This record gives sequence, C-alpha cells and structure tokens, in this order.
Amino acid sequence: MSNLDKRAKDVKARATQPDHMYSYCRVIHCGQPARAGTADGLDRLYCRRHADHYQRHGSPTKKSYPAQVLNPYRQAALVWMMAHEEDFWVKDAVGKVRGLYNRSGQKAEAFRLRGLSPRERGTALWARLRASEVDPRLPVAAWLAVEMVLKDDPQPDLKPEFKRVQAAKLVHRMVSGTHKRWERKRPHPLHPGLPPVRVVEEKHWYPKSRGRVLRHIGQDLAGAVELLADHRLEDIRTFKGERDKLGTYTSSPYPKGVVARTRP
Ligand SMILES: [Zn+2]
Repeated sequence: MSNLDKRAKDVKARATQPDHMYSYCRVIHCGQPARAGTADGLDRLYCRRHADHYQRHGSPTKKSYPAQVLNPYRQAALVWMMAHEEDFWVKDAVGKVRGLYNRSGQKAEAFRLRGLSPRERGTALWARLRASEVDPRLPVAAWLAVEMVLKDDPQPDLKPEFKRVQAAKLVHRMVSGTHKRWERKRPHPLHPGLPPVRVVEEKHWYPKSRGRVLRHIGQDLAGAVELLADHRLEDIRTFKGERDKLGTYTSSPYPKGVVARTRP
C-alpha cells in the first residue's frame, strides 16, 4: 500500500468513526454512555433509556401530561371556540388546520407508512384526520390545551419541542388504525379427511406515536394556531378557570356530545 493510499484509508476510518463514541448521556447524573447514532439522529445525546423517553415525549426526562390533567383544558378550549366561532383568530386557526387536511393528499393505510420519511408520515396523518372527518377544531383545541397546561405547570419544559410533541401526541390519538379481517380455511385439526375448518384472522396497524413524525405534526399545528394563541390564550385561560368552578372535566377530552371521529 502506498503512503498516499494509507493516509486516505486513515482519514476515511476517522471520518466513519462516530464522534460521540466516548460521550455520555446529557441528562445530569445519568452517567450512562450516550447511544450510538441511529438513522433517526434524534438521540445521539442520550443513553438508550433517555433517548427512548425523548422520542416518545419530547423531553429526555419530563413525562407527558396525563389525560386527566389535559382533559379540562381541551374541553375548555373547545367550548370557548364553539362560543366564538366568528372570532377572526378562531377562523384563522381552524382554516389553517383545514388547509393542512386539504394539502395532505390521499389517505395512506397505516401499514404503508413504514417506508415513508417522517415528514411524509406527518402529512399522512393530516390525510387520515381528513378521511376520518375529524373536526378541525379538535387539533386546534389540543394545541391550546398544551399551551395552557404549560402556563399552569410550576416546572414546565418550555422548549418548543416539548410543546410540539405533547400536542402532536394528542392529535395522533385522534386517528384510527387500519384494521383488516379475513377468513381462511384450514385443514381439519383431527383428520385431513374431515371438511376444512374456517378461521377468522385479524390484523391491526397503528401509526407509531414517536420520533420525528411527532415533531413535524407539532410544527404544522404550531404554525396553524400560533396567532390564535397570541391573541386569545389569556381569554381562554380565564374561561377555563371559571368553568372549572362549575364541575370536574377530567374524564373526557371532549365536552358532552362531541366525538373525535365521525367515520372509522
Ligand atoms: Zn441517560
């Protein structure tokens, strides 16, 4: 091997060696080695456990808000919007979510999402919402709820990413999976001479609620709702505070009579 070849080989070896190989998880007091880079690229800063948490929740350590915490905020936001349908900023946000629906192209079945990029999967989610006829006010209310819960949280994670992932998780749950059911004939288990038996098989696919796709959905939603939040969030918070004096609203994300999907 010539010197030149050898040098080229060394340089290549160094370039392909991950630079984070000897680094540690960024979470204070964790002490575990950081995960080797993955194709996703989201988690090179953290150990396996914290990387996984970060993918699912938008923060390496802070937990997602549970439903019973978010529900009163989601209800209040929606009820307020229903009472202010003609508000300029409400119309603006709902119209923008409708735009996300309309620009999202054809609905893809959940089992076809695997080969798509996170951006494409995010767009596919909006198409699924449209196909399921999810009221565009519901994603708007979900965003407003997350904005409000962060304001009431004494120890909030104020990074945009956490907010986006929290809201995206709620939107993600508004879509259904893809379900298939079919019948198959099987030889009789006792004797091959007996007539075959029929068995029903089912398979269910759900889009995965983790990783970069949540960041894209959250970013889309942030863009749609930010002006409404800028102008009306304090009014809605006041309304929420008054409404909470009248009852408890922790058991459902929607007020009575509202369902997420009108089509499966
Ligand atoms: Zn860690």
